[in-house]
Amino acid sequence: MTTQLPKLDLMKSHIWLRSKEIDTDLNGVTMQEMTSAVERYRRFESVLTKLFDGDWDGKIQSDLKPYPHAEEHQGHLLVKCDATLPMTGSVKARGGVYELLCYIEQIGLAEGLIEPNQPYDALATEESKKVLSRYGIVVASTGNLGFSIGLVARRFGMAADVHMSYDAKEWKKERLRKIGARVVEHDCDYELTVAKARDAAKAGNSHFVDDERSRDLFVGYTGAAFELRDQLNSLKIEVSAERPLVVYLPCGVGGAPGGIAYGLRAIFGDFVYPVFVEPVASACFYLALIGGGKTAVSVYDAGLDNQTVADGLAVPRASELVLQLVGGSIDGAIAIPDTTMAPWVARVWKELDQKLEPSAASGFVAYEALVNKLSSADPHTGRLNKQALMLGTHIVWTTGGAHLPEDEFTALLNQSAASV
Ligand SMILES: *Cc1c(COP(=O)(O)O)cnc(C)c1O
Repeated sequence: MTTQLPKLDLMKSHIWLRSKEIDTDLNGVTMQEMTSAVERYRRFESVLTKLFDGDWDGKIQSDLKPYPHAEEHQGHLLVKCDATLPMTGSVKARGGVYELLCYIEQIGLAEGLIEPNQPYDALATEESKKVLSRYGIVVASTGNLGFSIGLVARRFGMAADVHMSYDAKEWKKERLRKIGARVVEHDCDYELTVAKARDAAKAGNSHFVDDERSRDLFVGYTGAAFELRDQLNSLKIEVSAERPLVVYLPCGVGGAPGGIAYGLRAIFGDFVYPVFVEPVASACFYLALIGGGKTAVSVYDAGLDNQTVADGLAVPRASELVLQLVGGSIDGAIAIPDTTMAPWVARVWKELDQKLEPSAASGFVAYEALVNKLSSADPHTGRLNKQALMLGTHIVWTTGGAHLPEDEFTALLNQSAASV
């Protein structure tokens, strides 16, 4: 098994494209579960505007913008701006936070703080905070998941323990402590940190947001697909066999890209082509998919070290749950070199006025790599082929960065200036 894993060159892009048809039956999460997740978010809108003040409507939604300098094909290149999502400034507001809201709703109902079918505004009161302070949430994170859960949990008054892997940056820990979360530091990688946090939650009787195995978290991410459908409708962009939708999704453990891909497949069937994007050093989905997509393998077994500037994607092994739910629906996996992301961070800042972290810029790199591959003399002839490239609507999903501290962002821009 181990000996069959290829040795990936860290300086090159690696592209896997599905050669056969995708699995047509999509099962595991029902349409009803997905729409009830959208409704749950709706029930929380008014309380979220109270807890996170600012000029907004409580909707966890982001813009879909045309990219101003698209490459030359007849389709469109658009950007889904989840890097600017309210509250957290990352895609985690859709999934991790959704699971937290499920838990808060359950407590709120059990404690009599809220009633079914009534507004949830009472969850913003001091009394509610006192009640919720007796409950805790535990999560493991290299960064955005911990920040998102920590931030939202603390606003509701709930205790939050964030277990962080060795590669978590100091400023991310500091930022969490400042909002009153407890940071538990580990000297191991993300996969092991998740295992340790899972055990700690069990021992402490707190709710564990399980990034690898949680169904709620996965279902939360599917909501993005309904939002995108409405946005495409209002732009009058059709999705059809002639005009397929190619979506570039930055991928860590797989929950975010998996949930989004699942929702899109449920809506658009096989007219949508999800492409997962990873740094080469953490190419766990790429490795799983070239091996048939049924089992998760560890990047360490392929001689990779899981060290990357894309810290939001530094995950050594794919989620088995995600592989099982959407493994057969993924059309492409693209692993990209670390050096390629910072230049796109600079470009998007200049051209779209949007702050991205390296992880969130990876979709642009993958789009470029795919354009090159499909325009070459020897293009892929499977589903994701030259025609899909030329006529398709391409959407790069930007997943985080709006809340990067100014000096971190400046350092990133300088890094990209130095690399050209
Ligand atoms: C978490 C995250 C992802 C990927 O999500 P997974 O669920 O781990 O696959 C992508 N980009 C950013 C910026 C993230 O924080």
